[in-house]
Amino acid sequence: SKVVEVKNVTKRYPNGTVALKNVSVKINKGEFAFIIGSSGSGKSTLIKMILKEENPTEGDVFINGYEVSAMRRKDIPVLRRSLGIVFQDFRLLPGKTVYENVAFAMQIVEALPKEIRRQVPMALALVGISRKANAYPGQLSGGEQQRVALARALVNNPSLLVADEPTGNLDPENSWEIMRLLNEINQRGTTVVIATHEKYIVDAMRKRVVVLDKGILVRDQQKGLYGDED
Ligand code: ADP
Ligand code: ADP
Repeated sequence: SKVVEVKNVTKRYPNGTVALKNVSVKINKGEFAFIIGSSGSGKSTLIKMILKEENPTEGDVFINGYEVSAMRRKDIPVLRRSLGIVFQDFRLLPGKTVYENVAFAMQIVEALPKEIRRQVPMALALVGISRKANAYPGQLSGGEQQRVALARALVNNPSLLVADEPTGNLDPENSWEIMRLLNEINQRGTTVVIATHEKYIVDAMRKRVVVLDKGILVRDQQKGLYGDED
């Protein structure tokens, strides 16, 4: 079944920039897909369409069969609940501990305290950050902060995990660790979509690549490479 369907989407920003031109892409349950392309090619805009942070100018976006473009404001939290989101800049709450940051994502969706006490330690263990549960984000390295962000993104068992340049602020060693974890999360059944321009990672992982160039989808390939020279 389709988790994401982007259908003939064009996005024109108020200043006139056309960031996506008639883009169509389907992502099935269980897939792992990279959205790649140089800076300004439209990767973030495509992610924003999926998260409903921006609306398409033309076309439709469906998540788990629901038409996101037609969704009312009050229904957006329901959509976000089925999504896990990871950003380049981590976006942890600085005044909350690691445990509290992850628990907060469950409190927002009104999970029961019993569930929270069970799920949070599991999420922290999965990303290998249990022993920092009581630390504050400011006391952690970038790689550790991103692992916390990953735990937060997956603690509600989302059907789809979306990451926008998740390794953009990390050194190669930490980047590989985050990618290894994203791959593991995918193997456990979560659909994973990652916008990136890290060629070395894309070329090593040989996953599906959806390539944007100046807002146009120019290539969509299984087990693809960053460039299509060979
Ligand atoms: P990428 O993520 O691949 O770097 P973006 O989706 O951020 O690409 O940007 C695609 C194009 O849209 C770029 O030309 C960018 O300058 C432009 N753009 C992005 N966001 C906005 C915005 N809010 N207003 C106007 N133009 C924007
Ligand atoms: P902002 O200051 O950008 O409005 P918030 O204070 O709403 O951000 O949230 C701070 C951080 O907590 C952000 O990284 C945001 O992604 C995260 N966050 C907020 N709500 C949720 C949620 N329901 N699930 C997971 N993370 C959340």
